[in-house]
Amino acid sequence: MRITESRYSRDRLRHDLAFRLIGLEARTRTICNWTGLTQDRVRKLYRSYVRDEHPVRRRRGKSPRQWTYFLNPGAVEADTRTLAATLTLFAAIRLQPSGRMAPTLDEGHRLCDAYESYRHVVTAPHIEFEHAALLADTLARGDEIRTGQCRGCGALNIIELAAIQRPPCSACTEPLREDTVRIPTSTAAAQRSAGRATTPEHAKSTHSGSELSRRAVHRPARRMA
Ligand SMILES: [Zn+2]
Repeated sequence: MRITESRYSRDRLRHDLAFRLIGLEARTRTICNWTGLTQDRVRKLYRSYVRDEHPVRRRRGKSPRQWTYFLNPGAVEADTRTLAATLTLFAAIRLQPSGRMAPTLDEGHRLCDAYESYRHVVTAPHIEFEHAALLADTLARGDEIRTGQCRGCGALNIIELAAIQRPPCSACTEPLREDTVRIPTSTAAAQRSAGRATTPEHAKSTHSGSELSRRAVHRPARRMA
């Protein structure tokens, strides 16, 4: 009986995450990867989701893989900093990059929490969910871009490791030094996240003491509420 209940509970969690991902317009393969559900099962969930009159666009094709997308100057670059901040606050940058180990349901929910918070604080978001997942994965690997905190103003910056010349801080325009503070993927939030945050309001209160200071999150975003 206990095994049956446990299985039911796990299936329920899988479906909860799948519905959440469908609502965020994740691709079928992505949903399978994060939930462990089969493609056939996800397609059926799509149909029931749409039948319940949730307007959702079903994206097709392969998931994006070009991390250079995040360096596009202008709106995408600014949104990337905001999204990187929410990914950090929700401990949604996996310590173990995907590919080596299947993501857990809790990690999936944290990614959704972070992405929904990004959409909550930015008035006209430019980054879709699949790119958010790519950013989390790219920052977890840390071999092309990483997050860094300006020593002058504390703002979060995206640092391209192979760049010949490091650009100035996006917030205060001071030069970013070579020893710019690296923002760890394992934040205090990760240790505290036995229970996951489910709302932006929860995140604000729960993670206010995160190693990433509040101003680091709020400074660089040009369209923060
Ligand atoms: Zn700065």
